[in-house]
Amino acid sequence: GPAGPAMGSLGRCLTLVLVKPDAVQRRLVGDVIQRFERRGFKLVAMKLLQHYQQLCQKPFYPALLAYMMSGPLVAMVWEGYNVVRSTRAMVGDTNSADAKPGTIRGDLSMHVSRNVVHASDSVETAHKEIGFWFQRDELVAWESSDRDFTYGP
Ligand code: UDP
Repeated sequence: GPAGPAMGSLGRCLTLVLVKPDAVQRRLVGDVIQRFERRGFKLVAMKLLQHYQQLCQKPFYPALLAYMMSGPLVAMVWEGYNVVRSTRAMVGDTNSADAKPGTIRGDLSMHVSRNVVHASDSVETAHKEIGFWFQRDELVAWESSDRDFTYGP
């Protein structure tokens, strides 16, 4: 839409979540999706793919790249009120050893190098990352029937 890929048609917030290869191999895709669904967020796009491109420039980059390319991952776009911030809170600390119980990483992983998910860390990053992983026409515009019950009037 005219508001750009990080904003929904009503100006609502979008974020990018990756279910990383370790979690796909460990059959955790459904668990991760269920957490976002139950929180009330709306799925806007999703695909399974094998990743072949460079992600970022960090000191641990070679190992991170090998990990991210080690098998298929699931890329998803979720929409909802404050979804970027809330999703980061649901994901938990980068280092799984510090991630609190109840968070995705705190419940499902032990080590920073195999930490199950990625989630955009700001609205600006979400905008860029959604554009990296998805074509504009892959984002589906739909109204969920629970909208009034989830957000109030
Ligand atoms: N990572 C790693 N070793 C480190 C720090 C990070 O393997 O010492 C990996 C980890 O999988 C992390 C990713 O690099 O999720 C990206 O790091 P970032 O600092 O962006 O953390 P995030 O936003 O994922 O919490």
